[in-house]
Amino acid sequence: MDTAKLLSSVPTGLWIGGEERDGSSTFDVLDPSDDSVITSVANATADDAIAALDAACAVQAEWAATAPRERGEILRAVFEKITERAEDIATLMTLEMGKVLRESMGEVTYGAEFFRWFAEEAVRIAGRYTPSPAGSGRVLVTKQPVGPCYAITPWNFPLAMGTRKIGPAFAAGCTMIVKPAQETPLTMLLLAKLMDEAGLPKGVLSVLPTKNPGDVTAALIDDGRLRKLTFTGSTGVGKALVKQSADKLLRTSMELGGNAPFVVFDDADVDAAVEGAVLAKMRNGGEACTAANRFHVANSVREEFTEKLVKRMSEFTLGKGVDESATLGPLINAKQVATVEDLVSDAVSRGAKVAVGGVAPGGPGNFYPATVLADVPADARILKEEVFGPVAPITGFDTEDEGVAAANDTEYGLAAYIYTQSLDRALRVAEGIESGIVGINRGVVSDPAAPFGGIKESGFGREGGFEGIEEYLEVKYIALTK
Ligand code: NAD
Repeated sequence: MDTAKLLSSVPTGLWIGGEERDGSSTFDVLDPSDDSVITSVANATADDAIAALDAACAVQAEWAATAPRERGEILRAVFEKITERAEDIATLMTLEMGKVLRESMGEVTYGAEFFRWFAEEAVRIAGRYTPSPAGSGRVLVTKQPVGPCYAITPWNFPLAMGTRKIGPAFAAGCTMIVKPAQETPLTMLLLAKLMDEAGLPKGVLSVLPTKNPGDVTAALIDDGRLRKLTFTGSTGVGKALVKQSADKLLRTSMELGGNAPFVVFDDADVDAAVEGAVLAKMRNGGEACTAANRFHVANSVREEFTEKLVKRMSEFTLGKGVDESATLGPLINAKQVATVEDLVSDAVSRGAKVAVGGVAPGGPGNFYPATVLADVPADARILKEEVFGPVAPITGFDTEDEGVAAANDTEYGLAAYIYTQSLDRALRVAEGIESGIVGINRGVVSDPAAPFGGIKESGFGREGGFEGIEEYLEVKYIALTK
């Protein structure tokens, strides 16, 4: 892959109203594998945010009135474009985010699929028509696009966290301004260009890279023309945004942090559980909100599970994401490495044993090895906090009730994984676990055709599935006489 040629095809300005504009300043985008500067991008200000909102408002009514089939066909064309340019997008993502190319290719497939799925949903926005029970009138219910939306996305899935929002918003007839994470703005800027090439009307999408997310966000939230905020990121920032949005009673969707339990019962197929554990832990290098954060394993199979997981985790090879021999890339930045180190040393100081990994190799780059911690005590912070790295802490339990209680002992509620060969137990436990998503005997749960989202402090709202488009629709009741 000719990186210079690829980079020259990526916009580095602000993408406003379907055109690239210079910003008043720029900021650097770094390669996490050696902290070198990949390129610089424009740094959006509050004024740029208002210009993007002006562009969105100018075309909102026309876009909402565009035939659903036409909106669907544009989304389908974007799906084809992404598929055509899959290798370029994946390489770009690996450069700015660090994950290995195979993971980036997986994200391109997953991310593109939201356009195909919502291309199909655009034509299925249904209402209803019923007689009123008293017989005096008729109830007509219809759905309309919410209006201009603002999406804030994190760095861990630079494409898919955006497409999960853009796909349903455009299918519903909403316009959208996207603010990608400052660490990874390039993938979203390239997507904007590809969407333009696929025939998206100008103004429907704007992309605002910025180093000052607070300023840009405050300008949009306070403006009064914005109708919806959709956020994926940490619980702390999500809570602050909900408070900020309250003043305008803005509709919000919040995809926040997780602390996914991976529960292995005594009747599990241990080999399958180990394979599932590797997927649930190591997908995206552990930097996923759905990543298994803690492993609760029945004491009768704990030793066997630990031994086999250690063997599989020791097979990971650290390296630059673009190197074919690498199976685990760097973490996003030095701060993230420090967070992981801190959680590991806290667990060790309380009695956990490092079974493999546990020591960062040091610079250049922000690498941390695949790590297993055995005998992790219940008070270790790593069981409570999101580690967002390739560390698997293992702890034991005896009875099914204890396993479920341990899984639920968290303020988060995004994903959970359970391994058991009993159908009764699988369903009973799945119903008892407090999370928006439960994987039974599988380590990957994300699917564009399924509603993705959390409960408790993992947020609210759903992305994907039939449910995903509802986040971008208002219900209107039209009262008719008989
Ligand atoms: P983060 O909250 O620091 O940043 C996320 C986004 O919010 C970025 O675009 C950032 O620029 C922006 N942001 C930060 N401060 C802001 C402010 N004051 N006003 C407006 N925007 C602001 O999170 P992160 O570290 O980039 O991402 C990792 C987190 O995201 C993890 O907690 C992870 O679990 C979560 N996540 C959740 C999901 C999900 O679907 N539930 C998916 C991926 C990641």
